[in-house]
Order: sequence, then structure tokens, then C-alpha cells
Amino acid sequence: MNRYDVIIIGAGITGLMTAYKLAHHDLKIIVVEANPEPGWGVSKGHAAVVHVVQLPFSSKKSKMAREGNKMMEDICRELGVRLERTSTLIVATKIHHLLALPFMALYLRLNLGRDFPVKLRGRRYLRHEEPNLTERALGAIEIYGYGVVDSFDLIYALYEFSAANGAEFLFGERVIDVEIGNDEIKVKTDKDRLLTSNFLVNAGGLWADEIAGLTGDEITFELGKGVILVFDRRQTKRLISPAYLKPDPKTKGGAIMFTVEGRGLWGPNLRTAKNKEDVTVEEEDIKALTDKFGPLLKEDLGISIKAYAGIRPIPPENDFRITYSSRSRRIVHILGTESPAYTASPAIAEKVVSMLASSGLRLVPKKKVFPREPFPRIRDNPEGGKGEIVCLCSMVTEEEIREAVRRGSKTLQGVMFRTGAGMGICQGGRCMAEIVRIIAEELGTDVEEVTLRGGNTWIVRK
Ligand SMILES: Cc1cc2nc3c(=O)[nH]c(=O)nc-3n(C[C@H](O)[C@H](O)[C@H](O)COP(=O)(O)OP(=O)(O)OC[C@H]3O[C@@H](n4cnc5c(N)ncnc54)[C@H](O)[C@@H]3O)c2cc1C
Repeated sequence: MNRYDVIIIGAGITGLMTAYKLAHHDLKIIVVEANPEPGWGVSKGHAAVVHVVQLPFSSKKSKMAREGNKMMEDICRELGVRLERTSTLIVATKIHHLLALPFMALYLRLNLGRDFPVKLRGRRYLRHEEPNLTERALGAIEIYGYGVVDSFDLIYALYEFSAANGAEFLFGERVIDVEIGNDEIKVKTDKDRLLTSNFLVNAGGLWADEIAGLTGDEITFELGKGVILVFDRRQTKRLISPAYLKPDPKTKGGAIMFTVEGRGLWGPNLRTAKNKEDVTVEEEDIKALTDKFGPLLKEDLGISIKAYAGIRPIPPENDFRITYSSRSRRIVHILGTESPAYTASPAIAEKVVSMLASSGLRLVPKKKVFPREPFPRIRDNPEGGKGEIVCLCSMVTEEEIREAVRRGSKTLQGVMFRTGAGMGICQGGRCMAEIVRIIAEELGTDVEEVTLRGGNTWIVRK
């Protein structure tokens, strides 16, 4: 019986957040995802920053980011996901920027209110608090309420929570057709599967335009590529951003950032991608990031270990568009999920659920909700960890790799995302072969059968 209350297309952060909210209610829901695992679309290529400032303040993306920021704390607590609260320093290294700081601070205070305090900081504070910041830093604005989240763990936690509470997931199948009837919506996948539902949510991220096309709606995205440079260790205690007088409405301009694992990040930049698969990193990207962020630090930059790119779907109005289909109020499109949609995802999901409810979806809270079983990690619990350490850079044990496979990661990329293995300074040079061997053993196959990310992305030659 393939009949559902709600079908969600896309298991990125917005689709998963929507599933998580709906899974608190007595509903039959299914999430259809083209990739073999959740979170492999735009949601894998971001910086994991829980943002506060997104200009213009009147935009939906700005308001929803601030709402989502506040909601993120409870969600991470419920799911056992790490969220480290921090602040951002907007640093002036030029005298005219320094003179503008009090006006910028006033503007920020007026718009951010009490939830996100704003303070002016002088040179002495910066020397003391951020010893790795350039001597050329003259002053700064400090904005509180930012965060960095364990983004992959959040993705997998939302999936596991939703599945534990009855949501079904269909991985590795792409929706290719949608038929809107009077009392049902029919969805067809590329594996010839037919699903029917009362309601449909398009959470297709970068491909949400194509899904909108299937329902007779139209939108065109600009493809905003952003490159991020990864360092072996974090370089500052806070997020650091250079001061600008004229912000670009299409980007927050990037920052010196860090991950919950303690790695440093610089970026992202913004330029137009050639197509949706264009995640190449070019020399000019590295140069742009190095020229922008290098001068903000003293000489201790750490070692750059990787660069990666993601693509933002930027709609014409340069804002989120969360809307009913023109054909039916039983279909909700989540469009234009550019940055900071990861931050805003709890607020986006809340809006989607309320739109579905306004169109007749009955929301009866479940009497009992099952918790997500947190992923056991030796680095979080050194005393309680089991097994040999396979990835020394990220401190991942053999047992964690086996657990990732048991929880559904059947590819090398999935195991890496879920455990953090192979993502440290040696980038898997030391442990990759061992990880592939353990995956094969856990799956009961030969190593030649293990792929990087499904399909024919073989790792070992037969
Ligand atoms: C470089 C960069 C840095 C960023 N940094 C941040 C940050 O620090 N903080 C922040 O808040 N935001 C950030 N963002 C933005 C954030 O990553 C995205 O807004 C967010 O991940 C979008 O999530 P999504 O669920 O809408 O899309 P996606 O993650 O792309 O999910 C959509 C899913 O739908 C699936 N799909 C598509 N079509 C179909 C179909 N026909 N059938 C089945 N499945 C389908 C895809 O496979 C995909 O998994 C950044 C973005 C980039 C590019």
C-alpha cells in the first residue's frame, strides 16, 4: 500500500527537518531521495555555521535564520548533536572601517534586539581574546548567538529520529513525474515505483526548480558556487569576518571559521557555477580566499588540507520562496534554499508544516515519541569507546565504522560523513584501505564491491 499522508522529495536539511517535525505526529510519511543516503546534496557542502546576521534584515532568509538559530539549540539537545555556541568578530583593519563601526553596531543592535547582543571591541580586547588576530586589527564589533553545529551528525540524527518514529525513506530513487488529481497526488520514480499521497513537499534544494517543473510551476536559479578551504586546526576562538562598508546582498562575504571537530575553515566565496555538477575548485578560488582571510591572522595559519565547493540555488528575488504550487495548495515548494537555509531549516520546516495544516493536513501529536540513539564515539567518551582506532587524525574506531554501516551507510563517503573518518590531516591516506576492508566485512561482500558514493564509483579494481 503506497498511499501516504505526505511525500517529501529530498532528504537534505530542509526535507529532513520537515520529516522530523511531521514525525512527531500520527502521520504516514515518506521521504524520497535520489542519493543513496541523506544530506548528499547542497547540505554536504556548507560551513556548518548557525548564523545570526543575514542582510537585508527584512528578508525571509534573514528572519528565518534568526528563528531557526534559536530553535536549533533544543533540536540538537533532543537529538544528541553537538552545537558549539560562539560569537563573530567583524574586524576593522582600515581607519575608515574603524570610524564606521559605531554606526554599524547601532544598526545591528536596532535590528537584532536583545536575542543577539552586539558589543564594540577595542584593540586591547582583541589582543587579549584573539591572540592570533593580525596586529593591524584596530577594533571590531562582536555579535553573540552564532554557533557551529556537527552538521553531518545533525543530518543523520534527523533521519534516524524520523525513521524511529515511523517515517519511511526511499533512497537511490529520483522522482521523475508528479500527477495532481482531485483527491490525491501521484509520484513516479525512475525505478517505476508509484506512490500516492494527500500532500507533497518539494525539498529538492538545487533541483527544486526541476521538481517545481513537474508540478507545472516555474522558477530559475542562479547557481552560486562557493569554495571553502579546510585547515588542520582552528585558528581563532571566534568566527572572524572583515568589516565592509557596502555588503553584497548575495553573500555574507565568508569568514574565518571552525568546526566542532576543531578544524579551521576559510570561505566561502561566491561565483557562478557552470552547471549543477560543477563543484570544481580552481586556483583563483584558493587565491581569492587566501588574499581575503590570510591577512587577518598572524603567521600561524595551520596547514590547509582540503578545499571543497558547494552550489547555492539563488532565486531571482534572492530570498527563500516557500510557496504553494499554483496548481494545488496540497503541494508546498521550498525554493531558493541558499545560505543560510541550514540555520533557517527549523523555521522553514515549521512554516511548511503550518502551510500543510492550513490546507487540511490533520496534525495529531503522537502519544509517544522514540528518541534517536546517539552515535557512540570514542572521542566524546574516551572511557566508553570500543575497539581499535582506525582513523588516528579524527579518532575513529573500528566499532564506529561498523556501527555506521549497521545504521545504513553502505558506501565509503557515507561512512566518512557519519563517523568523520578520513577527514583529518592525512585525508584518509593512512586509514582508507582499512575502512574499505571493514565496510566490506560488515556488508559481507568483497572489497571490490564497495563504492565511494554508489553507482559505479568503485574504489578497488577487480
Ligand atoms: C559553500 C556553501 C556554504 C554554506 N554555508 C552555510 C552555513 O554555514 N550555514 C547555513 O545555514 N547555510 C549554509 N549554506 C547553505 C546550506 O548548505 C543550504 O542552504 C542547505 O543545505 C540547503 O538544503 P536543502 O535541503 O534545501 O537542499 P539539499 O541539501 O540539496 O537537499 C535536496 C535533496 O533533494 C534531492 N533531490 C533533488 N531532486 C530530487 C528528485 N527529483 N527526486 C529525489 N530526490 C531529489 C537531492 O538529491 C538532495 O539530497 C551554504 C551553502 C554553500 C553552497
